[in-house]
Amino acid sequence: MKNTAEAVIIGGGVMGCSILYYLAERGLTDTLLLEKNVLASGSTSRSQAILRMHYSNEVTARFAWDSLEVFKNFEELTGMPSGYTRTGYFLIVGNEDRPAMEENIAMQKRLGIATDIVSIEDVREIAPMLAVTGDEAIAYEPESGYADPYSVTTGFANRAREMGATVQDGMAVTDVEITGGRVSAVITPDERVETPIAVVAAGPWSRPLLAKIGVDVPLETVRHQVVTLRRPQDRVPEHPIIGDVVNDLSARPDIGNLTLIGVGEDEEADPDSYNQSVDMPMVEKAFSNLTKRIPEMSHALFRGGWSGLFTTTPDWHPILDGVEGIDGLYFAVGFSGHGFKESPMIGRSMAELITGVEPSIDISMLDLKRFAENRQLRSRYSMQVLA
Ligand SMILES: Cc1cc2nc3c(=O)[nH]c(=O)nc-3n(C[C@H](O)[C@H](O)[C@H](O)COP(=O)(O)OP(=O)(O)OC[C@H]3O[C@@H](n4cnc5c(N)ncnc54)[C@H](O)[C@@H]3O)c2cc1C
Repeated sequence: MKNTAEAVIIGGGVMGCSILYYLAERGLTDTLLLEKNVLASGSTSRSQAILRMHYSNEVTARFAWDSLEVFKNFEELTGMPSGYTRTGYFLIVGNEDRPAMEENIAMQKRLGIATDIVSIEDVREIAPMLAVTGDEAIAYEPESGYADPYSVTTGFANRAREMGATVQDGMAVTDVEITGGRVSAVITPDERVETPIAVVAAGPWSRPLLAKIGVDVPLETVRHQVVTLRRPQDRVPEHPIIGDVVNDLSARPDIGNLTLIGVGEDEEADPDSYNQSVDMPMVEKAFSNLTKRIPEMSHALFRGGWSGLFTTTPDWHPILDGVEGIDGLYFAVGFSGHGFKESPMIGRSMAELITGVEPSIDISMLDLKRFAENRQLRSRYSMQVLA
């Protein structure tokens, strides 16, 4: 294995691979990515992979909107398809949240995002399978959709490799060596890789690794379930993506006539030992709640499902930062259930931070110190994952 590098990335999820790619694009190609398992085997492979723009904070909305352009042009950039599939996205909240929705839509429009609040009549025209009522406020994003997390992760990794980076899987990092206040090496069970820069992008495993290096980061890992249904093809051949706050779920179509329903995000779980399946009571609840929104889905069939982990921070926004007092140590963690859609811009922002260039998007509010200084980002909604 390579035993010196200008930078070592720890973790081969979508974030690590995006950072590796954007570093290479900036000319830093003597790099090494270490993945303890195989690429995309953590939260990334379990993602519902919804690409939507509706957020309460400008930085997140911009990350998602600018990243969408990358997903659209991914094959030109990397040689691999991103799997971007445009479906449109409806966010449905109770009328009590209408003022919050209006403020968010105004902010998004200022950023140039294609979105608007729509009427019941508009919904009937665009998506007649949805049942909506006058007690709800509904936002629509025509450009939103979903993509393929595995293809995106390996696309970034392969293109970075073509530019000179090295990717090594099956290799866990056990420690980062600090000498005289700066990173000097990354340690694996068999090797010591000399490097001045280490970037922790280890998803749910980031907190213990950073703690070992003496950095305390407020991360929790919580289980999120994805229930799969086979749609009745004749009755519901398609539907847009729905973020349904009223019925507490998100639903997106998938190939093979499937619908993926995402539910639950409050059960803490150990990344090395948690129930990776779905709970039958949750399946029943998700099924029944979805039929309130798409009544014809009462004819759907249960097709299984899986669980994955959200790595959350106290304000459900990521921490993108360097470590004060340790030159060369960076981390990109805590994506709180919405990192995939932001991953291209996270990679670009981290590459800019590491190489010390003017940031394209201001990420200063995503620093670690915000928690100690009471500068948490605030959602306009009570449902945290909407962020
Ligand atoms: C069920 C579910 C649904 C989701 N739905 C959406 C969605 O619809 N839209 C959206 O935008 N986002 C969604 N997300 C969130 C998104 O998937 C994550 O934010 C994103 O994948 C995080 O990527 P990551 O690279 O930070 O973490 P991970 O994918 O977990 O990658 C971390 C990698 O680091 C490796 N690693 C860990 N420790 C070490 C070590 N010591 N040495 C070497 N390697 C190590 C792991 O093996 C892993 O491969 C969802 C997540 C889940 C779980």
